[in-house]
Amino acid sequence: MPVSLVGVRGELLTIEKEVSMDAREVRYAWMNGEFVPWGEAKVHIASSCVTEGSSVFEGIRAYWNPSQGQLYLFKTGEHLARLYQSAKMMHMTPQYSQAELESVCLELMDRNGYREDVHIRPAIYFGEGRGLFCYTPDKIETGVAVTAVPRQSRLGSGAGMNVCVSSWKRISDADFPPRIKISANYHNGRLAAVQAALDGYDGAILLDERGKVAEGPVACVFLVRDGVAITPPVTGGILESITRTTIMELLEGKLSIPVVEREVDRTELYVAEEAFFCGTAMEIAPILSVDRYPVGVGELGEITRHLETLYESAVRGENSSYLESLLPVYV
Ligand code: PMP
Repeated sequence: MPVSLVGVRGELLTIEKEVSMDAREVRYAWMNGEFVPWGEAKVHIASSCVTEGSSVFEGIRAYWNPSQGQLYLFKTGEHLARLYQSAKMMHMTPQYSQAELESVCLELMDRNGYREDVHIRPAIYFGEGRGLFCYTPDKIETGVAVTAVPRQSRLGSGAGMNVCVSSWKRISDADFPPRIKISANYHNGRLAAVQAALDGYDGAILLDERGKVAEGPVACVFLVRDGVAITPPVTGGILESITRTTIMELLEGKLSIPVVEREVDRTELYVAEEAFFCGTAMEIAPILSVDRYPVGVGELGEITRHLETLYESAVRGENSSYLESLLPVYV
């Protein structure tokens, strides 16, 4: 049933009630050992993952290559390894192995008949249990699920973002570790993203507790100064991003651009030649201005443009150096 809402700029929106607009055509999800019809992949409202946001998850992209008739999952092993690290830090004990989940991801693509770009979301969650909150693994159900919905790549679209530095600070490792990819800590970035949207920006950058640049709500940040690419270190209040690693490899290996991981001041964003976000869902998103200061000349930069081309050929199976990072779905 469609629902009417008022958007952040007062516009009237109509959304479909079924979970997500892009999920309307999805046939199957996978939950705790079974492929189930999409509408049957449910948890109880009283589950810990609902009431406390205790679901660790991953976003993996699959890219369709029309000329090869092939769908490729990118860096699945790295994503599943990070999922199990998040689960370990949350004292979760999933009943399925990483290898089993990898097979599930591949079969889910086939069962849904995907021949387009897809976003896959494996999750390990706390379900129903007794004495919720200070639970030990034996006191609570730990579930595992994988969903996947079509999501077209925006690589090469030329779309850039005008962003602000948020007044919200990024959570730190000593408070609630950004290294744990758990739904609860996404509300930190969400506060920044919503505030930015209400203030008329396309996105936000969060500083860490010391006032240094951390990351965006769902992506890491790179800037270019004097021809050198710079990004905050993995100890700087960021998620250890898999795309960030790919970007560093492409910059150094294919574009001969040196990469430095170091603390970044807010004002360095204002004097950078180029800047962009990177992440699985956002891919590479050029930043055109920060706090209304144009980045460079306020247009898509050369290095960012080259990176987008290189990244797209890697993820679509057209760069031989990245074939080992791809899992083909169709034999
Ligand atoms: N930071 C945050 C907070 C994120 O949610 C994401 C998306 N997973 C990233 C960075 C980028 O990580 P990755 O490249 O592994 O998708």
